[in-house]
Amino acid sequence: MSGAASEAPSFLIVTLGCAKNEVDSDRMRALLLEAGYREAEGVEDADVALINTCSFLASATSESIEATLELAQAVEDGVRDLPIVMCGCVPSRYGDELPGELPEVAAFVRTDEEDGIVGVVDGVLGREGGEARGASGVLRTVEGTSAYVKISDGCDRFCSFCAIPYIRGRYASRRPEEIEAEVRGLLDQGVREIVLIGQDTGIYGQDLADVPTLAALLRRLDAIAAPYGAWLRVLYLQPEGMTDELIAAFRELPSLLPYIDIPIQHCSERVLKAMNRSGDPESLKALFERLRREVPGMVLRTTAMAGFPGETVEEAAELEEFLADVGFDYVTVFAFSPEEGTRAAELPDQVPEDEKLRRTQRLVDVAESLGFAATAAHVGERVDVIVDGVDPDVEPPELIAHAWFQAPDSDGVVHIAEGEATVGERLTVDLVDSFCYELVGEPTVSPSPETEEG
Ligand code: SF4
Repeated sequence: MSGAASEAPSFLIVTLGCAKNEVDSDRMRALLLEAGYREAEGVEDADVALINTCSFLASATSESIEATLELAQAVEDGVRDLPIVMCGCVPSRYGDELPGELPEVAAFVRTDEEDGIVGVVDGVLGREGGEARGASGVLRTVEGTSAYVKISDGCDRFCSFCAIPYIRGRYASRRPEEIEAEVRGLLDQGVREIVLIGQDTGIYGQDLADVPTLAALLRRLDAIAAPYGAWLRVLYLQPEGMTDELIAAFRELPSLLPYIDIPIQHCSERVLKAMNRSGDPESLKALFERLRREVPGMVLRTTAMAGFPGETVEEAAELEEFLADVGFDYVTVFAFSPEEGTRAAELPDQVPEDEKLRRTQRLVDVAESLGFAATAAHVGERVDVIVDGVDPDVEPPELIAHAWFQAPDSDGVVHIAEGEATVGERLTVDLVDSFCYELVGEPTVSPSPETEEG
């Protein structure tokens, strides 16, 4: 171990994959800090390394294993003699096989075991105790102006292409009191945007008799966030989760941003059925039209998948047309990947790789043309932004912020060349130019309340 005998051991966390993993890493960080560990700045001063892995796609699994092996190689090359703890989705998915395959790893921690991280780290470092301590106080430790908050884990939908239900287990809502405490703690730490996530946020509460609906939870969280002037954003809703009660919440709650992320994957009724999903072009279009009609300024984000087994050339074109027709603001595009253990991996008529890439590129072209146009359409608006940091690489340094219609890490940023502000501050800016998904803003002399969103 590094340093003097009295100095606390230090840990390094490497996070791969999605926002949900970031949340899990924050949680493990908070538990380790609370138990007296220090966070290392890099591998050089770490006593133990945690890799929080992703296994959503076969490529993500390979990347996670490569990152682990790279770290193990660095240890072998003498950078440091530190144990490696592999956490998250790869151990959840391949648990039993891993100890034999990866002898370089000292311990494996599945997603549902991560609250016991202190005990595991104590164990691999041979420290006294060997069990989790102090899980009562701080729920998360984050840096930055926005933070993801998981309201549920797991998924019951079993879309035929997706391994998540096998990795993360059945849908489980978190207790509302625990979510409220976490949100309060984050706002007290200076966070100014709370991004609520889960595999399927719209059905929040349906698995527990005494837990409110998502709309009711949002009302409770709005009452907490509003006094801080903070924003609430919800990601990963499914079409069936859009109830009247939820649409009313989007219309009425001051801190809830009029921004909806509904990953449709496809629009063709036949393809959706093969995906074990429901819907058809007419019902999906009607839903998005309703959202735009009933929630002024509603921003729409979705996810689309190219090359699902059996997808015909006509169905691929139908999806392109549908995206353009609805006019989504932001679209994330995935190429179908046959995931081990899923039904879709065994389906006949797999689309050849080169054709899948061609369809993916066509969807990306549609996504970019929609996204660039939606971004440019904001030029001329006066909007609220949250200042996320300073970019020191340009001269003079400029502020980097995001507007209410830009989800952190996903939808681009606003560059503000002039003016001073502290990180986390909410500014009102005039948007004067755009480039792809980026915007340029100039601070207004005084905020104009009637133009504020959220
Ligand atoms: S809704 Fe479908 S795609 Fe999303 S996590 Fe659940 S099974 Fe996977």
